[in-house]
Amino acid sequence: MPKARFANEILLHSAALAHLAQPFTSTTNLLTVVREQEYTSEADIYKSAGMAYIAPELREGTNELQLALENKLPTLLELTDLKGSLHNHSTYSDGAHTLEQMATFLRDEGYEYLGISDHSKTASYAGGLREGDVLRQQKEIDELNKKLAPFKIFKGIESDILGDGSLDYEEDILKTFDFVVASIHSSLNMDEQKATTRLITAIENPYTTMLGHPTGRLLLRREGYPINHKMMIDACASNNVIIEINSNPWRLDLDWRYVQYALEKGVMLSINPDAHHTNGYADMKYGVLMGRKGGLTKEMTFNTKSAEEVETYFRKRKEKIN
Ligand SMILES: [Zn+2]
Ligand SMILES: [Zn+2]
Repeated sequence: MPKARFANEILLHSAALAHLAQPFTSTTNLLTVVREQEYTSEADIYKSAGMAYIAPELREGTNELQLALENKLPTLLELTDLKGSLHNHSTYSDGAHTLEQMATFLRDEGYEYLGISDHSKTASYAGGLREGDVLRQQKEIDELNKKLAPFKIFKGIESDILGDGSLDYEEDILKTFDFVVASIHSSLNMDEQKATTRLITAIENPYTTMLGHPTGRLLLRREGYPINHKMMIDACASNNVIIEINSNPWRLDLDWRYVQYALEKGVMLSINPDAHHTNGYADMKYGVLMGRKGGLTKEMTFNTKSAEEVETYFRKRKEKIN
């Protein structure tokens, strides 16, 4: 390929056909613009088309051309915007590293806080925490918070959503957590109505702060159970529940195609690595990329908040229960 055509070829190979072929005036589409001449950069191509630069992640042929023409494209989330990491595991359940190792690693990477959310008691196959383990872990968190300040560990749990949609601890334990990630891990063979109702019941539980991996899919390994994404997102909007983008590359769940709808409904998303090892934190970059494909901004990403802001958010949310 002649060097002079490089920018043209990059655009042709980094965009869905729908992005290139969609007319943005009565007579022109980007394919026409690209064929007209050789450009020095992708930015030049968009400029020549009379619109703002569109990042490769957004070149899908949805509404990005219109937004670019109106200069209304979102400023997309960056990995460096993240200030902490929520939904992570330690040796209390099935993680490879201790609570202190998980915390100091994240602190040394420049983050302000760790949300620990080990498995709950129903997930016995994953070393889920019984009530006594929860209290023992929370005592250790109190000690580490003194030792590691200003770094902060938030007390969480990844609570299993049972078949009827309830969480698997009594209220006296649920109220000890700063935050609860509610996830389905068992009885995955459900039709859409059953799965959606099960999720919505958990979302309506006042102790649920965040919904974990909404469909349970494992890419290339296991289909997710079918859910009505819009009903699930609407329930999160009504109950002030955050949805995670589980950033483990096998999951990437919430799927990016529903990010835009969540944003329209005012639902915040959290880039959660679900790390079971200190190496797992690095997966947050995949979650950021998926969020960006859906138009996710820093403002709508929960873990771009500072430790202080997150602490206030969790406290105020808990105060509203009852
Ligand atoms: Zn999980
Ligand atoms: Zn998890």
